[in-house]
Amino acid sequence: MIYLDYSAHTPASKQVLNRFLEVEQNFIGNANSNHTAGALAKEKLDSTTNSIAELLNVLPQEIIYTSGATESNNLAIKGIARSYRHSGRHIISTPLEHSSVSAPLTALQEQGYEIDLLHINKDGKVDLDSLKELIRKDTILVTISAVDSELGTVQPVSEIAEILSAYPNCHLHLDVTQAVGKIPVDFTLADTISLSSHKFYGINGSGILIKKKDVVIEPLLHGGKSATIYRSGTPALSLASATECALNIAILNQEKWCDRVGKLNKSLREFLAKYSKVRINSPNNSIPHILNLSVNGVKGNDFQKALSDKGICVSVKSACSVEALPSRAVFAVSGDRKNALSSWRISLSHLTTDDELEQFMTAFDTCYKELTK
Ligand code: PMP
Repeated sequence: MIYLDYSAHTPASKQVLNRFLEVEQNFIGNANSNHTAGALAKEKLDSTTNSIAELLNVLPQEIIYTSGATESNNLAIKGIARSYRHSGRHIISTPLEHSSVSAPLTALQEQGYEIDLLHINKDGKVDLDSLKELIRKDTILVTISAVDSELGTVQPVSEIAEILSAYPNCHLHLDVTQAVGKIPVDFTLADTISLSSHKFYGINGSGILIKKKDVVIEPLLHGGKSATIYRSGTPALSLASATECALNIAILNQEKWCDRVGKLNKSLREFLAKYSKVRINSPNNSIPHILNLSVNGVKGNDFQKALSDKGICVSVKSACSVEALPSRAVFAVSGDRKNALSSWRISLSHLTTDDELEQFMTAFDTCYKELTK
């Protein structure tokens, strides 16, 4: 099997798994219990949270542990919408968002919130003029992925934050799930920020929502004491500690890993340029980890299945999106529905070997010839 779907999931590293086991075995108490085992767990949780806060340049009380970015996005978006509904009911987002952002927005729309989507330029970046045109006094939230999961486009988040600074009622939520460990992220820029551990070699089912201390959000879950009033449930100490370990390693190795992935991306682009029916959809400024392409006249699902039959794992849209519909993100940059239906994604890691890439190229060549004849 050749795995080229690292944007859907990365394997937890050995260090992360060791950390998880060590904490799980050594801290047996509930961090909220009033006895020695509880106090030891609480002490470990606090030191873990302090360390994550330092890594991300935020305050410890701004960290909310969640089950992943789907929960973090839902908590931030619905939480802000409900808490600030008396200031307004207008929300701005983009057509590039993951379903864990677009679906809560649809749910809010059904409850009477007004949602506007920003125009996307040909280079994949949001059109800042369209933001200036759409933003209003009653806009309470702009929610945007710093790097989208299908194309890998890096968005101008500092410029967006700058525009929003003239609108005190408006909050900024960033989904940095695909950015952490790949590009530097400024965690001071937004009111709420989502991240997910299994995208940077941490453990699936764990993530974080950063919520700035003066922002109020209505919780999704009620009942059960936790580390914060915003997210109920017994604090998952081992997962939090594993996330801290993964985050530390990812940030430390970011440049080195990115260089390696950059070389792999370059080889892939050079290889794909030889095929006349291949169209690269990822803009040039995308992170090198994601390469979205279409083979003209071949549905993305068909190409993916043909590769899968040869043991190559790539994905059509993101793993969480609805099958058979054209990719909204690819349509937004190409304006071409057929091209969007033909699109699929290769996602790379520093773990990808030259040999794996060569095997992919051989399989691609065979599938291309079979499917385009
Ligand atoms: N946002 C983005 C941009 C993603 O790529 C993903 C994962 N595909 C998510 C959110 C959801 O993350 P999780 O799997 O942790 O719920």
